[in-house]
Amino acid sequence: MKDLSKNKVLIINTGGTIGMLKTADGYAPVKDYLFNEIKEISDLNRDGMPKISYVELDTLLDSSDVSCTEWNEIAKTINKYYDEYSGFVILHGTDTMSYTASALSFILEGLNKPVVLTGSQIPLAEIRSDGRDNLITSVIVAGEGVINEVSLCFGGKLLRGNRSTKISADKLLAFDSPNYPHLADIGISIKYNYDAIKKGDNSKINVCELKQLPIGVIKIFPGMQFGLFENIITDKLGAVVIETFGTGNVPRSGDELLPILKKAFDTGTIVTVCSQCPAGTVTLGVYESSSPLKKAGAVSGKDMTTEAAVAKLYYLFSKGYDVTAIKTLMEKNLAGELSE
Ligand code: ASP
Repeated sequence: MKDLSKNKVLIINTGGTIGMLKTADGYAPVKDYLFNEIKEISDLNRDGMPKISYVELDTLLDSSDVSCTEWNEIAKTINKYYDEYSGFVILHGTDTMSYTASALSFILEGLNKPVVLTGSQIPLAEIRSDGRDNLITSVIVAGEGVINEVSLCFGGKLLRGNRSTKISADKLLAFDSPNYPHLADIGISIKYNYDAIKKGDNSKINVCELKQLPIGVIKIFPGMQFGLFENIITDKLGAVVIETFGTGNVPRSGDELLPILKKAFDTGTIVTVCSQCPAGTVTLGVYESSSPLKKAGAVSGKDMTTEAAVAKLYYLFSKGYDVTAIKTLMEKNLAGELSE
């Protein structure tokens, strides 16, 4: 390992299992506690390791409760300390870590330093916690500065944040990025995949704060009665991500879908099509079963994860673009989230 002792890494704790303790109602995050636990990890204090500092959000959360407010808070903290640190490690619950990683990849415009999200399936305070290794590796990745984008480090993999998805509720290898190569594989050494890493540039960081906006996600299933969903399509709903079968296919259910798509078009609701398959891409119009979506002007999410599509919609609406521009940009690669 390189000597990183001159580099500084800021750990930002947002909550999640890594810093949770058992309560009468189940695991919950605890304020002003985790840094004492982290300081006990001897590897973090060894020669050659980056110097670490630690801050935590005012309210630590189970990541089920994380939303735009916390995404903005994390981004503003990174921006505030940007020049002081070589990189940043975000401690976060695993449940919505991929949503936060995706959101930060858009919010942190012009990012040129490592922002590494990590956490654990077993609390740091418990025996066999995976948080220890995840944290040590993340601190090294953030200190080394080889990557200059938002990534997620977990279970021996370093993934592009906006390509990652949680694949297991209980395994320690809890994340993957089925549609994008790993940024690094972590074994005896950290093997960076230089071809997959975003190239650094001279851009300056800018935080685009996200607004809480009315967005929906609908998962298609066999026998779905589309009529039941008609009432949620109103002019209040800015966008809906539809998780379809395979390459963008939906049951035609006696053509109940068409009036709904027409309604979405009339109300200006943006329909984005993602796939229920973790790997592969949406290609509208390949099958007759996806042609109604294509004809109604739905946007293809291509090989984007649902997490990235949701975060990107928040971002594009928050930037103030109109419906036509958002539809165009949803199909364009902005932060490495899709393959064009
Ligand atoms: N419910 C937890 C959270 O997402 C799960 C975890 O961190 O693993 O905050």
